[in-house]
Amino acid sequence: MIALNDMWQVSPQTEKKIKLLDTTLRDGEQAPGNAMTIDQKIAIALKLEEAGVDYIETGFPFSSPLDALATRKIFGLLTRSSVATFCRPVADDIRCAVDCAGTSNRHLLMLVVTASDLHLERKRGITRQQCLEELQRAIDVANGLGVENLAVGLEDASRASLDYLEELARASVSLGAKEIIFADTTGYATPQSTWHLIKYMRGVVGSDIRLSIHCHDDLGLAVANSMSALLAGADVVQATLGGIGERAGNTSLEQIVAIIDCKGRDYGLRTAAKLDCLYEAFNILRSAIGLEEPRTRPLFGRYAFTTAAGIHQQGMFNDPDTYEYVKPSLVGRKRELLVSRHSGRSIVRHAVSELGRKVDEKKINYLYNKYVISDEFATTCRTVDDLAKLIANDLVTDKMEYHA
Ligand SMILES: [Zn+2]
Repeated sequence: MIALNDMWQVSPQTEKKIKLLDTTLRDGEQAPGNAMTIDQKIAIALKLEEAGVDYIETGFPFSSPLDALATRKIFGLLTRSSVATFCRPVADDIRCAVDCAGTSNRHLLMLVVTASDLHLERKRGITRQQCLEELQRAIDVANGLGVENLAVGLEDASRASLDYLEELARASVSLGAKEIIFADTTGYATPQSTWHLIKYMRGVVGSDIRLSIHCHDDLGLAVANSMSALLAGADVVQATLGGIGERAGNTSLEQIVAIIDCKGRDYGLRTAAKLDCLYEAFNILRSAIGLEEPRTRPLFGRYAFTTAAGIHQQGMFNDPDTYEYVKPSLVGRKRELLVSRHSGRSIVRHAVSELGRKVDEKKINYLYNKYVISDEFATTCRTVDDLAKLIANDLVTDKMEYHA
């Protein structure tokens, strides 16, 4: 027998630890409706640190006094995670970031420069050469201040021409940058294009420079593109809790961690993150920004580990593996079975057994018709306890029931 897995599995390398950069407090926060107070940012940052996230991007310090103060405070509170800051290639931005989080290795200062001709011409109105010189001057400023951990982010890299990306990357590395970030700023990339980009750029910068990926979800490909980058050899992935962020959002941090948890052995990858802590961080975020609980979102959705469908429930009663590949325990959650018109007789049998009773199949049919598929319950969704209460009342006067 040929297992389908054998056809696509990559051969495991030595297990490599992927670094996680959370940008919930910067890219996530800058999206409409997501602004947070300093205390809210601190609470999320501390939970992200507890979860094992490597870098916590605190904001864009020069953009507002609140971002600067949040960066300063979070940097002072973190003991294990590093802080990352967003800077344009402008001296004031760099000085402000350094003022807030210092120059040590625990502060990843990210200079974000324009990489695509579209942005150069129509957003900035500058030439490739002018942009390159701007970057070189900015790196000189950072180096002059003694910044140890410098990254250069290439905005709109997925729509940029390869020769210019190469030029920017070579210049950055030659001036001391430790990391190059490829931003799919508009959600233009595909898993294939991202894979080729990272493979190509690894050849350009060599093995000592970290490559990082930053994706947006405009076509719903952010997670797939980020995974593709990691499989091609990227070292760092930028992501947000619940995938919040500009427009359709960013790569979901929890999805990346879960994929690597579930398939990392095949891929030769691992992270240091704890998904149950990330779920707690997501709930802090939800209450901070008033984000409704999504119904079907992977891992964090209200019903991500819940089913009301009869065929699924029948399988789950026999063996949860039948319809559950991702385990709720992975996120510190619990499996839940609900009762709707789509449930079957198996949930009725389960509710009866929960009551410690036994009834014959004729009675099961009666209860099923009355409490599952009747018009009265056509559009409701209830818990097994609710169903058990209805059944308990029904059984009080019933002559067919007997105690188990
Ligand atoms: Zn972004």
